[in-house]
Amino acid sequence: TGDGKGKTTAALGLALRAAGHQQKVLILQFIKGCWISGEVRAISSIPQIEIKQLGSGFIPFKQGKPLINPELKMEAEQALQYALEQAKNSSYDLIILDEINNMVDYGLASPEQVLNIINNKKPEMVLVLTGRNAHPKIIEAADTVTEMKQIKHAFQHGIKAIKGIEY
Ligand code: ATP
Ligand code: MG
Repeated sequence: TGDGKGKTTAALGLALRAAGHQQKVLILQFIKGCWISGEVRAISSIPQIEIKQLGSGFIPFKQGKPLINPELKMEAEQALQYALEQAKNSSYDLIILDEINNMVDYGLASPEQVLNIINNKKPEMVLVLTGRNAHPKIIEAADTVTEMKQIKHAFQHGIKAIKGIEY
């Protein structure tokens, strides 16, 4: 969690590490940008890692607050249900729920829904959650928590999102 850059890419690093040991990895992206990320292209050539983008992914914002509509809420419910199902019943060694903390932050998921996934996962499975503003209950439930702290970001100096760095 945290406001600094590197959360999703750190999780992808773990996926790579696990795949190198022939472990099976599932990456579920809860919120995606409007472009296809480099990681999605690269991962398609790694057989042990599967990556899925859930929902339409694009969340409209107004004055820094997300505009939640019934359609988004329904997509979020389906995405959470899918994640729960995979955590409970699949044979993945590692599941990454990318940006799921934001879902809670935006009110698209309750902390209890995420805790339910954590509490019902297969015991030997590793679950990684990313996203800003991790809920205190989720922080408490986790074994390991890292906060990416922003010192500065190129965007603040007028540098727009760079291919290969931001997406
Ligand atoms: P990355 O995907 O690079 O590991 P992240 O997952 O930590 O970053 P998110 O909070 O998910 O970052 O943000 C998604 C994108 O927004 C990233 O590409 C990141 O570089 C960019 N970003 C992060 N902080 C800022 C900022 N302060 N201003 C503009 N863009 C930012
Ligand atoms: Mg991210």
